[in-house]
Amino acid sequence: MRPAGALLPLLVTSFAAACGLFAAACGARDIPPPPPAPAQAPAPAPPVASAAATAVPEPLPDPGALEPPATPEDAERVLFLATDNRTDRLREACPVTQERVPRIRCLLSLRYAEDPESRKLALTLFEETGSLAGLLPEETSDDGRGGKVHLLPARPIAQNREHLVWILDAFRDYERFLRGLEAHLPAAAKVAFRDRPIYFRFFYSEKGGHPSAFAIQRNIGYNLFGALNVSDSAVRDTLFHEIFHLNDSRLGDWSKAALAPIHDAIVLRCGRRTACLAPYAPTDTLMNGVFYAFTDTTGAREYAAELGLRYYREHRLILEGKPLPIKPFKCGPPENLAAWRILADALFGGADLVPPC
Ligand SMILES: [Zn+2]
Repeated sequence: MRPAGALLPLLVTSFAAACGLFAAACGARDIPPPPPAPAQAPAPAPPVASAAATAVPEPLPDPGALEPPATPEDAERVLFLATDNRTDRLREACPVTQERVPRIRCLLSLRYAEDPESRKLALTLFEETGSLAGLLPEETSDDGRGGKVHLLPARPIAQNREHLVWILDAFRDYERFLRGLEAHLPAAAKVAFRDRPIYFRFFYSEKGGHPSAFAIQRNIGYNLFGALNVSDSAVRDTLFHEIFHLNDSRLGDWSKAALAPIHDAIVLRCGRRTACLAPYAPTDTLMNGVFYAFTDTTGAREYAAELGLRYYREHRLILEGKPLPIKPFKCGPPENLAAWRILADALFGGADLVPPC
């Protein structure tokens, strides 16, 4: 996650416990309170033609999925926060007799009925990635900095619609990145990194921009007024960091065993001194004056996610034939190359397209 959550354990009772990266940015801006948005009861049923959706063939199971595909029951829960006593209306509008994909499309159409443009984007997101544009349940959570934060469900509609555009662009970029890597791998090598599907849990915070995002299980909490979620490139980076956390967890907290020795030795040597940590920091993101990669007191989890983000940033440029703006990460201290190789081997089939130092 980004900033605040970094100090919290992953397994928490609330969704938000794992705030996103970029600590410094969390809450750093004076963002006006968002307009009240939509956690209310399901919208009226859309016209039959748009809701029932055309027959879409059931896609083959994606072997690259973070989890199995979403079920219609998942969609009821994620899109409407539906409980047993709230599902009757949903099932009148979108009968359970429908096949999986048409029923999820129907539920998405219902959820976004009053905003055709957002509806189209949410449907496209589902069709391209299997991901759902849903709601975070209202909750009060630790903010990771000793305080509490109150989070409320919201939707990417009207003036917030642009977030769906940025998210779609990010997923399309991840697809190009992963396909590009695979094109350079021998047939036997496999990329273990998975980027979909995701349950987006949109929210806004009473503290404005904080937290920007967090990841837990297959869910990504996304603050529609997050201080970091302000452009296509910023959202691309934030989501990649969060999706990296999902992979780390999926692989049994991979970073704890694989990268902790390197991370811990660096922290032992440098403490929290910026000048000492700088050569080892995969990104320049700071939280409370400390490199975000080294703010995690519970281990190498944030170091791993920032290293993953650096790997992605360098490779997407190389795959596009563009020069790297700064010295490659692996060309820093020996620890950097060691961590780079461990990461590439475990998650990206061993691919390293960055030229030798
Ligand atoms: Zn993180």
